Amino acid sequence: MTGARLVVDRSAIAANTRHFAALMPGRLMAVVKADGYGAGAELVARTALANGATRLGVTSIAEALALRAAGLSAPILSWLNTVDADFAGAIAAEVEIAVPGVAQLDAVRRAARRSGRRALIHLQIDCGMAREGCAPALWPQLLGFAAAAQAERDVEVVGVMGHLSCASTPSAAANRRERARFLKAVRATASARLHAPLRHLAATAATLTQPAARHTLCRVGAGLVGIDPSGTVPLRGALMLQSQIVDVRRVPAGTPVGYDHSAVTSQDTTLALVAAGYADGVPRAVAPDAEILVRGRRRRIVGRVSMDQLVIDLGADGDAMPGEFVTIFGPGDQGEPTVADWAAWCGTIPNEILTGIGRRVERVERAEGLAHAETVKAAS
Ligand SMILES: *Cc1c(COP(=O)(O)O)cnc(C)c1O
Repeated sequence: MTGARLVVDRSAIAANTRHFAALMPGRLMAVVKADGYGAGAELVARTALANGATRLGVTSIAEALALRAAGLSAPILSWLNTVDADFAGAIAAEVEIAVPGVAQLDAVRRAARRSGRRALIHLQIDCGMAREGCAPALWPQLLGFAAAAQAERDVEVVGVMGHLSCASTPSAAANRRERARFLKAVRATASARLHAPLRHLAATAATLTQPAARHTLCRVGAGLVGIDPSGTVPLRGALMLQSQIVDVRRVPAGTPVGYDHSAVTSQDTTLALVAAGYADGVPRAVAPDAEILVRGRRRRIVGRVSMDQLVIDLGADGDAMPGEFVTIFGPGDQGEPTVADWAAWCGTIPNEILTGIGRRVERVERAEGLAHAETVKAAS
């Protein structure tokens, strides 16, 4: 192995899961879409289920079937499917399906008929994002079709789901409005004589800050890997991105560095070349004050981040060895930048940093903490 690696700390995912499971005993869905927010869908799913989660959630049916193929038998919900999605595959694997409209309901129903089995569905209401989910004006119609499909045993409505637009800002007026829309949809569902025992609205942020949004189930993804969009609780960062130093060189003041010569050294200094670039998930559009931890000290990136490499300035007194590991981000307890620091430097949210880690980055699993991840490999 050479170059970048993503170290995944199972104990952090376990601790974070327990935090949410304590808020919602027996009623926690672990959302593991986008390969478990970069941490590995199967790993996050298994760890979460072993620590209090009772269900799994993903977007595509393909993601759900991959979890089934890995041997996970917990209930799984898939949402955001196109009308030509593999609903038959989902039904055969007992994957529950979110249904945002009549067209999708019809497709699911036909797949159920063909396979001779009932589809388990969650009706999905758009509470105010103009995004996925049924527009409130069309909800009564969807309920009518769903009731008919259930009467003919093509589907069983097991849930109603919504999503909040502004949950990371607990004081936003939209939260109250959207919670009310969800409740209205739930009441209408009951009036249509659809039982729907699972009623779920909250993701990580609302689970933490809006008890009124918790209903009978919470869908938590970001929180499991240590992201708290609400900034209200200390969760443990579960991921550490490291890479190795390829080369170290002394350069005089005035040395241009990297593409476009966007940086020029201001003093005699030591530069280190690190094997990590935007193909590995270090965004090119990063602020000039972005730092990496080398031997316990924060060191600035100089010049452009390239596809496969970047350069850091170790300073006039700096030293490092080729082969040595440096830490791009981690939980922060050894002085390294966090995913939140990187998100700030890149004008984004931590979720985008984590889900953007490149495919060629080696995934390394640790059962117990990131503190002892070795930082020196090939140094002689
Ligand atoms: C991604 C997603 C979640 C999980 O959100 P987090 O903020 O990561 O916990 C929940 N519900 C839906 C519909 C989602 O798409």
